[in-house]
Amino acid sequence: MNTGNSAASGFNTAGVGKGDIKSECDELKEEADKEDRKIQAMRKTPKGATAHKCTTVTASKLTCGGVTTKKPAYSSLSRLPKGRQSRYAQGVKRGEPSKMCKKKNGEDFEHATQGFSSGCSHTEARLVEDAFKGPGGAEGCELMMKIKWKQRVVFKNPQGKITGAKNVAPLAKPCKDCEKVLCHAQYCGLKIFLCKIKQGRQEKVKPPPCKKHGY
Ligand SMILES: [Zn+2]
Repeated sequence: MNTGNSAASGFNTAGVGKGDIKSECDELKEEADKEDRKIQAMRKTPKGATAHKCTTVTASKLTCGGVTTKKPAYSSLSRLPKGRQSRYAQGVKRGEPSKMCKKKNGEDFEHATQGFSSGCSHTEARLVEDAFKGPGGAEGCELMMKIKWKQRVVFKNPQGKITGAKNVAPLAKPCKDCEKVLCHAQYCGLKIFLCKIKQGRQEKVKPPPCKKHGY
């Protein structure tokens, strides 16, 4: 997949001039930015605020049977004050079975695990799992997401000591593990769209192709 331009184009925030009608993606972009600021304020300690700079904040909109529900998601949810966590997407816990439909071979979908971080904690996985938690599942529903995957570049001296860091443009795409989650969700009948900057405008686009993930 060629996504080489996505980081650079992330700098061109879509200009919505007076009189322009805001697209669904313009709205989700605004919501993702708003949540991002809100979360940073909740992570009060300087260390917490710095850690927030390489997390993911995603704004979403789920439409099922003509009813639309908006929900934000945060990858580092357990770092927020307990009482503030419930309005964000929860997803499934590590080791808990996926709520999505079973695979062709009858097994549950398994989220990736890497060290202390687990794929099921990523915003996209949380939102998808929540969509399938409803009584009717998520078949035939549509999930739209504006992903704000924040990137931070760390500089080190020749001795390996960190000498500085810089925030770079966030990515609007899922990580490789989440790509697979989105593929399985689509296999289970959930329609998925992402918002991405194209020629300076937020556009509703399909997620990356799934063939390489075996779908
Ligand atoms: Zn991910």
